[in-house]
Amino acid sequence: MRPIKMVDLGLERTFLGPRLEAALQEVLEHTQYIKGPEVSRFAEELGAYLGGVEVVPCANGTDALQLALMALDLKPGDGVIVPAFTYVATAEVAALLRLNVYWVDVSLDHFNLLPEQLEAAWRPEVKAIVPVHLFGQAAPMQGILSFAQEKHLYVIEDAAQALGASYIFPDGRTQKLGTLGDIGCTSFFPSKNLGCYGDGGAIFTRDPARAKRLARIANHGQDTLYEFAEVGVNSRLDSLQAAILRLKLPYLDAFNERRRAVADMYDSYFAGIAALQTPIRISWSTHIFHQYTLRVLDGRRDALRAYLHEKGIPAMVYYPKPLHLQPAYFRPEYPAGSFPNAERLAKEVISLPMHPFLSEDQIAYIAETVRAFFR
Ligand SMILES: *Cc1c(COP(=O)(O)O)cnc(C)c1O
Repeated sequence: MRPIKMVDLGLERTFLGPRLEAALQEVLEHTQYIKGPEVSRFAEELGAYLGGVEVVPCANGTDALQLALMALDLKPGDGVIVPAFTYVATAEVAALLRLNVYWVDVSLDHFNLLPEQLEAAWRPEVKAIVPVHLFGQAAPMQGILSFAQEKHLYVIEDAAQALGASYIFPDGRTQKLGTLGDIGCTSFFPSKNLGCYGDGGAIFTRDPARAKRLARIANHGQDTLYEFAEVGVNSRLDSLQAAILRLKLPYLDAFNERRRAVADMYDSYFAGIAALQTPIRISWSTHIFHQYTLRVLDGRRDALRAYLHEKGIPAMVYYPKPLHLQPAYFRPEYPAGSFPNAERLAKEVISLPMHPFLSEDQIAYIAETVRAFFR
């Protein structure tokens, strides 16, 4: 059996075959490594895939979040509401822009922020909420959007882990995540559901004027050549990465479908293990299983992880410490105990290998090893 990896980009490369070399070769021929035609074509294709939105490519998902905050004219001292249990990027860019971060707790079932806790996080200086669609399914957007409307807040979706997943409205209508709020952000880090082979990111908006502004900020604030209208940054997706993303975008839905099938197989192996909570599929979202994340309810999460590693199975903890307890972001107003669900999840969650190329042998081996641990 092939060694198991969290994400197996070698198998992806085999799947893409000579098409990959051909796509790269084209860029090598025209040599327009920055702002090549692949970049704008990819932006158009992704915009169409998302249901007709403007896509502004940038250098990575963290930059996407920063550009979003800058384009909404958030000023030092303004506040943003962020879930306490997520990747560090949002809190980081807010801190760099001298914004105040106010945390909210997340659900023990679906791991996303709890709209009923927004009121407690809110302050008069809060200008935006940044819901994260964690592990591949939607934050409860209806509650978030209605709170935002009531308080006149912007909503910036962090869709870095949920590209291709859809929100399901009560009437059955669906809409791609990242296109529900004022601005959506994503990352093309290699291990994301749509990953390039380096760094990359993008920002989504329905407002053409806002898209222009985002593109300007991403390009040093430059209006016309050597006319700088505002202070910007240098944040670009390069042509080689765009060529790879153009090649991979048509497979995104099939890859996400395959991830769901892998998740269903894992689920069926784990049915009946009382100490495990398998991923909960919420009614308001499709799930694209960026991660397949279990909760270990008997206190043996670290022991399980060590056992799996011993058996040659990688498993990761996303995330081992909630952000309000990280030294860089700690504030006395949020002591330990402030967000009990986030703190508990940090001790209970474990993510198993998840990618579209896991073989049934590998899935069976991983699942049987987990079962053996709990026997
Ligand atoms: C990966 C990720 C990011 C950051 O993306 P980079 O491209 O690594 O900068 C931001 N938010 C979430 C939730 C992520 O998973």
